[in-house]
Amino acid sequence: MRTGRSGSAVPARAADGDERDPRARGIGVRCQGVVHLYRTFEGHDVVALRGVDLAIAPGERVAFLGPSGSGKSTLLQLLGGIQRPSAGRIFLGDEEISRMGERYLARIRSRSVSTMLQGATRNLLPYATARQNIGFARLALSAADRRDAMLDSELLGRVGLDDQADQTVSTMSGGQRQRLALACAVSTGPELLLADEPTSQLSHQDRDHVLHLLHSVGDDFGTTIVVVTHQPEVAATFPRTVTMKGGRVGAEGRDGSEYVVIGADGDLHLPGHLSAEWRPGTLVRIEDEGTGKLVISRADEETQ
Ligand code: ADP
Ligand code: MG
Repeated sequence: MRTGRSGSAVPARAADGDERDPRARGIGVRCQGVVHLYRTFEGHDVVALRGVDLAIAPGERVAFLGPSGSGKSTLLQLLGGIQRPSAGRIFLGDEEISRMGERYLARIRSRSVSTMLQGATRNLLPYATARQNIGFARLALSAADRRDAMLDSELLGRVGLDDQADQTVSTMSGGQRQRLALACAVSTGPELLLADEPTSQLSHQDRDHVLHLLHSVGDDFGTTIVVVTHQPEVAATFPRTVTMKGGRVGAEGRDGSEYVVIGADGDLHLPGHLSAEWRPGTLVRIEDEGTGKLVISRADEETQ
């Protein structure tokens, strides 16, 4: 993250040239009808995303929750500009990254969006030191941005790795590697931070430490943060959870309440526990109570 000479976060540049609140470093994200297919070696197509509509506000913190294979990692990588959607549109702020040229996209990846792939070592150079890894992460920054960036020592101190600055990654513990991967991800001052399963395979203590650091990035810099997790207790630390199932976004949780989401195609996505009980094809009765409330009940039970 960039800091001014005063030590505070450098204000993001607004479209009209005015400086925004220095804490407002987050950028919004929008997906419209995003579909993604993978072609396997055998030539089959696997549909990973089947029409995702989603909007994330600047500075929001969201957890994508869902079973293995539901498309969480694919969606995260599309938001990070690491892959392009097979169809549909993805906007980062006002810019459509799904149609962007490769050079421009590479610029976005190195400056505006940081993606932590699943498994800390995939984001790090194993035989380099902590400090060298941060230097590498910042290679694509302009000289001015690098001058304004937080000092290596400050960044390493922030993630509790002051004493490991000159230690090679291969000699670090899992928790230390994940904290270094986070330091590298935030070293470029991203407006959007994406992290795929950043706490899986960590001890409870390391998990809590990494989560605390992630949230402190949001608190201090206003960065928009999206985390993929299959752990409900990790998702519970986020004000908004988006449940994924079968390549679609399903129910949402916000501030402890569960919501049902109506998709762009008019489909109703039920919360996880209900969708397991109410199988597709279940006949559902909807009654309008006239007070702005709808009552939904299983009609097939009445007829049994
Ligand atoms: P999640 O992160 O929720 O486990 P993924 O996004 O990794 O889900 O995968 C969604 C679907 O896409 C799964 O059916 C998975 O098998 C498939 N998939 C993911 N990556 C590839 C790939 N590189 N080649 C073929 N299929 C893939
Ligand atoms: Mg995954």
